[in-house]
Amino acid sequence: MRRIWIRIAKRIGWLIKDIRRSIRRMSPAQKKMWTMFIVAMLIGGFLGGVIGRSIEKSNSKKAVVAATNEVQKTEKKKQDALKKELFDLQKDIEATTADLPWNMVLVNGAHEMEEGYVPELVELKDGYQVDKRIVDAAKQMLADAKADGMKIVICSAYRSVSRQEEIFNDSMKDRLKSGMGYWDAYVDTSQSVAEPGTSEHALGLALDLISNQYSELDERQEGTKEAKWLEENCHKYGFILRYPPEKTSITGIIYEPWHYRYVGVEHATKIMELGVTLEEYLKDYYQPEGEQ
Ligand SMILES: [Zn+2]
Repeated sequence: MRRIWIRIAKRIGWLIKDIRRSIRRMSPAQKKMWTMFIVAMLIGGFLGGVIGRSIEKSNSKKAVVAATNEVQKTEKKKQDALKKELFDLQKDIEATTADLPWNMVLVNGAHEMEEGYVPELVELKDGYQVDKRIVDAAKQMLADAKADGMKIVICSAYRSVSRQEEIFNDSMKDRLKSGMGYWDAYVDTSQSVAEPGTSEHALGLALDLISNQYSELDERQEGTKEAKWLEENCHKYGFILRYPPEKTSITGIIYEPWHYRYVGVEHATKIMELGVTLEEYLKDYYQPEGEQ
């Protein structure tokens, strides 16, 4: 075994000697030609490697894009099925909602508001505007809460459809930046931010109210004394907690212990007593007679 290695080493030695000898014998022109040939081979090899790699890269990029598209397709199918379910559920309501008075108008993922509708607005406080017809009730609620020692901060009231679009898009961008895929970002956003045209804030009938002790819009808001006061008393002023816990499959929106919607005292009292959502109330309990 060792002998073979020695023989191979010897042969390599002769080969090198041969090459050196023939280089010595070469004319300057031949030397130049060989140098150029070797340089060309080196450059060619290098470029080949680079190009090969970049082709490989673009191929793997294509594979990622294809895989992402596939995932998005299946996710979209799932979402469409969910939407269809929600739409079917909403169909029953459709008949009832056709001629609803202004305070009972239903706006949600399946019911876009009338295009171009802008309520007659007046200022509630600090530049926040609401539908003129609810301003007295809202002011009274905030004044009574204050008298009870509550420190409530308004963080949203009327929002135009275009403002809603900005908020929706910003929220999408935040999620995309955090590394979420496009479809996930869309689904996640649409559960916490209503799509433009489907937000009650554009009706001027909704208020987002939080405690001055806790400024985050998340479930922990419900632990504040302000949120407890509002949930207990809102109906006396015609407001309902619009997106209660455990009702996301009906409202399409996560639990929002800060979002209050005006429907008028009579209906608000019934809705809060029954423990139902506006969707369920309109479908199963609403009687147009009585209060307008
Ligand atoms: Zn809100």
